[in-house]
Amino acid sequence: MIQLYVPLNFLGVIYREIKQSIADMDRLFGLLEQHREVADRPGAQTLAIRSRAPEVRFEQVDFGYDKTADGAHKRQILFGVGFTIAPGAKLAVVGHSGSGKSTLARLLFRFYDVDGGRITIDGQDIRDVTQQSLRAAIGIVPQDTVLFNDSIEYNIAYGRPGASHDEIVAAARAAHIHDFIAGLPDGYATVVGERGLKLSGGEKQRVAIARTILKNPAILVFDEATSALDTRSEQAIQRELKAIASDRTTLVIAHRLSTVVDADEILVLDKGRVVERGGHAALLALGGLYAQMWALQGAERAVAA
Ligand code: ATP
Repeated sequence: MIQLYVPLNFLGVIYREIKQSIADMDRLFGLLEQHREVADRPGAQTLAIRSRAPEVRFEQVDFGYDKTADGAHKRQILFGVGFTIAPGAKLAVVGHSGSGKSTLARLLFRFYDVDGGRITIDGQDIRDVTQQSLRAAIGIVPQDTVLFNDSIEYNIAYGRPGASHDEIVAAARAAHIHDFIAGLPDGYATVVGERGLKLSGGEKQRVAIARTILKNPAILVFDEATSALDTRSEQAIQRELKAIASDRTTLVIAHRLSTVVDADEILVLDKGRVVERGGHAALLALGGLYAQMWALQGAERAVAA
């Protein structure tokens, strides 16, 4: 009986492992599904970045997700959106939920192609370069980081497969998560994710920051989490992001206006159109949508305090 039990038990373990892997793949492909929308052009070139931080430009970009058979939009999401992020500068996009902010990041990463206008990096239309070279140049710190059911070391190394242990530790230190990891019973070998140690929202964001530091991209996209962390974690995360953004071209998709005050330019989106743009002080003085949102979030901050 025992002889039979052992292999059956073993099969059970294997079955659970396979099921878990499939769940991981599902989640991954759920995320990457949009990749199938675009393909490399024949003869696509490698993206050439002239300096440490490139110029990113959106020119009159129109876009809608759902198309009818003749290519027309069922619902257009972006209307003639244009902006330039100078090399090393930081542009923040704000606007009500659903105004199209995250869509800008998806288009830059070329999950989808624009319907009108174009997006360039150092003057190259992103449709003319290989997706591999485009995505290698962009580091995204997403709203919600997917952790694999694997060691925390593996989860950080995902930013640059093949990185050495020392490089991983250096990235974790820069993201201020090294001490936390070192304090775990199994250290960097600790299994995290759904079946392992559950990390808090702030810890997950730090893993994402460590991944991005390891990837060392020329362009940084920070899609800020909608669910607020506590103020102290939030401020610490902001400091770490500021440090890695300092010599990179940065696009911030912002949900809290307190995080955009220092941006070189703020773009206010309303129903897919740029309705205001400028620095924080100028936008407040304008007394428009930004000033309204600022006042509203100020009131919320006061209530929360
Ligand atoms: P939030 O602040 O809530 O994150 P957002 O300004 O980032 O919102 P987007 O995520 O860019 O908004 O979405 C803009 C519009 O596009 C929304 O109406 C949304 O429902 C729609 N949308 C987003 N993703 C898809 C998709 N994959 N397919 C169809 N419509 C989508």
